[in-house]
Amino acid sequence: MSHILNKKFQTALIHAPRKAPQYISSVQPPLFRASTIIFENTDALFNRHWTDPYDYSYGTHGTPTTFTLADQIAQIEGGEYCLLAPSGLSAINLVNSALLAQGDEVWVPDNVYGPNMEHLRNLEKRYGILVRVYNPIDVTSFTPSEHAKLLWLEATGSVTLEFPDLVGLVQKAQAQQILTVLDNTWGAGLAFNPFDFSDEHLAVDISVHALTKYPSGGGDILMGSVVTRDLQLHHKLFHMHAIQGIAVSGDDTAQIQRSLAHMSIRYDQQAQSALKLLAWLKQQPQFSQVLHPCDPESAGHEYWKQVCTTGKSAGLVSVIFKPEYDLKAVRKFCDHLNLFKLGFSWGGPISLVMLYELNHMRSLKNTHLQQGLLVRFCIGLEDAEDLVQDIQNALKQLE
Ligand SMILES: *Cc1c(COP(=O)(O)O)cnc(C)c1O
Repeated sequence: MSHILNKKFQTALIHAPRKAPQYISSVQPPLFRASTIIFENTDALFNRHWTDPYDYSYGTHGTPTTFTLADQIAQIEGGEYCLLAPSGLSAINLVNSALLAQGDEVWVPDNVYGPNMEHLRNLEKRYGILVRVYNPIDVTSFTPSEHAKLLWLEATGSVTLEFPDLVGLVQKAQAQQILTVLDNTWGAGLAFNPFDFSDEHLAVDISVHALTKYPSGGGDILMGSVVTRDLQLHHKLFHMHAIQGIAVSGDDTAQIQRSLAHMSIRYDQQAQSALKLLAWLKQQPQFSQVLHPCDPESAGHEYWKQVCTTGKSAGLVSVIFKPEYDLKAVRKFCDHLNLFKLGFSWGGPISLVMLYELNHMRSLKNTHLQQGLLVRFCIGLEDAEDLVQDIQNALKQLE
């Protein structure tokens, strides 16, 4: 090996003598970090096809690292093609930007992930898109006009955890050639297959997933995905992805890749703990309602049973405090939790709690939800009995 001082120092620093082998066999695939991708020669430069989903042209279009994760997510969700975005919200926005144009009508469930609604309201104000809200457990509230383009679905809904009438809603949308897009963060591709979820093999057109949650599992990385089965639809999304410069870091991608191996085990563990909490929470006198799709008393339970034939559910459970517990009391409860930390998101190792005032979040009249402050528990990987004890201790502060 020639000594570094035999070359001009700066050049020697950059052109290292050892080249990484093209391929060695390792448990995790090699990590590529690339903005620039180096072409062999001018032939390779002129013959590249950057619109080909698997051509390497520039970092924003993807590297073997990002394509590997994208393919795995597509496979987990039962789809064919996948695009990665730097957050779940960015993946949501990609769909809205790629598929909606002036005059189009988009339908959103009343319990939609809040920031999606904010994005759509912004598009509505600036570009003349019409946002309509429906009740996810009442298909008759979905009354699309001839301008309807897109139906957003969420199973379960953020915060109040109603499982929607997925079969009824998708059938109705398909009859009118309206594209369907599911926010699949709760199901994660594990609870049900968004591309085959009924006896009639119904499928949504697009599945969006906040990989920030279960696939990451660490509470430390942001990413999102957009999965389709239709190549034409994928190309439309791919084009918007490319011109908006939506790209993810190789390092983040490799971290999520590594966590995928145990995603299903973590998912099941957190779901089991959530069911234990559900049973205990239902016995407590402070709550007027406990919300979880597996509970026969929760709205949408029948739809969960119809679609989630795996019997699976995620690690989320919400409670509504009786009206006599005002904001001060419920804040006191949250502040006295010790294992549950106050924070947004879910799917990480640490249990999280979040406090919501539903009256500010819903536009339709809900008959299935009691009045009162809502607290959502996102179960981590702690022992379920310790979590119960933690809630019990915090409730004692309210006596
Ligand atoms: C967290 C979440 C998102 C957004 O994901 P981020 O990566 O945090 O932007 C979207 N939808 C649902 C249902 C979520 O829980």
